[in-house]
This record gives sequence, structure tokens and C-alpha cells, in this order.
Amino acid sequence: MRLRIDQLSKSFAGHAVLNQVSLHLEKVHTLSLIGPSGGGKSTLLRIIAGLEYPNSGEVEINGERISFQDEQALLTHRRTVGTVFQAFNLFPHLTALQNITLPLEKVHHYAPAEASEIAQQFLTRFKLEKHSFKKPAELSGGQRQRIAIARAVAIKPKLLLLDEPTSALDPEMTAEVLDMIEELREEGRDFVLVTHEMGFARKVADQVALIAEGRIAECGPAEQIFEHPESQQTQDFLARIL
Ligand code: ADP
Ligand code: MG
Repeated sequence: MRLRIDQLSKSFAGHAVLNQVSLHLEKVHTLSLIGPSGGGKSTLLRIIAGLEYPNSGEVEINGERISFQDEQALLTHRRTVGTVFQAFNLFPHLTALQNITLPLEKVHHYAPAEASEIAQQFLTRFKLEKHSFKKPAELSGGQRQRIAIARAVAIKPKLLLLDEPTSALDPEMTAEVLDMIEELREEGRDFVLVTHEMGFARKVADQVALIAEGRIAECGPAEQIFEHPESQQTQDFLARIL
């Protein structure tokens, strides 16, 4: 994808959460956002998803500017990105299969039979078919997140936005979710991924941006950020967590 973020600012109740953030990436498949808690990563991701309005600035994905002023265009944008958050992604009263078919039918207007076929394909592909008729409470955290990711991919999104998809999971379940993300990346999906899994970020991200105090402290290829960080904030952050 091509991603241009220009002078993006956002404040909540007068408190600046993103401060003139700019980022121009001509070609990136996996952009990983890392940085200290409260730095603004989720806010940035939610703005890219069209779920939050910036106070000023622009975001352009593959040459298309997100129209924050045009409610209809914003809705269309939201429907063409796949989003997965830390937890509570699934509808608790629906089965795994229904969780995937619901947006296909209600938002993307597939006929029920077609939606069901697509959902089954994804469940099979990710070895989740035996859980098709289970509700979220009957599934492990890892299975729930894999179903949430399958649901996000099933709508054929132009990009996937994942906000700490493994941070509520234990290590074993984290591994199964990360494997799935890696598989999707290998088939050429584009991601913006907020993660605390530094090993994973280093492995899958082609670009890594460190966000702290509402600014991008540094952005570059994963190897550069992890091996030769230039900014003091990146060095401090990595020293604290690695
Ligand atoms: P990160 O994901 O890097 O931890 P966030 O984007 O969640 O950071 O939050 C950045 C700052 O914005 C935090 O200080 C947080 O409390 C604040 N914030 C985020 N969302 C809201 C909101 N809806 N209302 C008020 N403050 C918010
Ligand atoms: Mg966050």
C-alpha cells in the first residue's frame, strides 16, 4: 500500500494526543506501530480506520484521501478496511460462522448462501472449521482472535488494521495468532499492526514507526529501528522493553 499521513493532529478535551503526525510511505506491506503506552498508537489506527476524526490533517491510502467530513464516504471507507482490536471483537451471542457471515450479509450485501460459503472457506483455511458452530465463550482467546481476523479478511479489505491483537493472550495462543498474521502477510495482504511483540514486529514489518507523546519519533525499516535506532526515544523505549 501507499500511505500518506500529513500533519495529523487529534486532541481529547484539549489534550493533544497526536501532534502534527506526518508519515509518507510509498510502498509498505506491513507497517508496525510500536511505542510506550498512551503514546497515540490506537488513536492513529482508529483515525486510519475512519473510526475517529482528526482535528486537522490528512490521511491518504493508495492515493485516496479519507473524507472525514463526508459521512457517506467515511462509511464506505470503514467498510473497506478490516479491523481487529485487542479483545471483544466477536458478537457473543453468535456462532463463529455467524460472526463471519453477519458483516458479509448486512454490510456487504452477500446472499446468505454465498456468505456462508465464504465463511466456511475461511474457517477451513485457518483450521477453525470444527469451531464453526461454537459461540465465543466456548472458544479459547486465540481461537476467538483467529476468527476475528478471518472475519476481517473475509470482506476483502484493502488493508487490515490490527491493534495489539495478541496482548490479551497467553504465549501459546499468541503464537497461533501471529502465525496466522504471518501467513496473511505472505499472501500479500497489507497491514498496519500495533504490537508489543517486538520479535514479531522485527520479523514481519517492513516499516516500523515508533510513536511517543503523540509524535512519530522515528520510522524506518525494521532492521534500522531495532539495530540502529537513531532517536533517543526509540533507544529508551527499546532499552526498557527488550
Ligand atoms: P496507545 O494506543 O499508544 O496506548 P492511545 O491512542 O490509546 O495510545 O491514547 C493516547 C492518549 O489519548 C492517552 O492519553 C489516552 O488516555 C487518550 N485517549 C485515547 N482515546 C481517548 C478518548 N476517547 N477520550 C479521551 N482520551 C483519550
Ligand atoms: Mg493502544
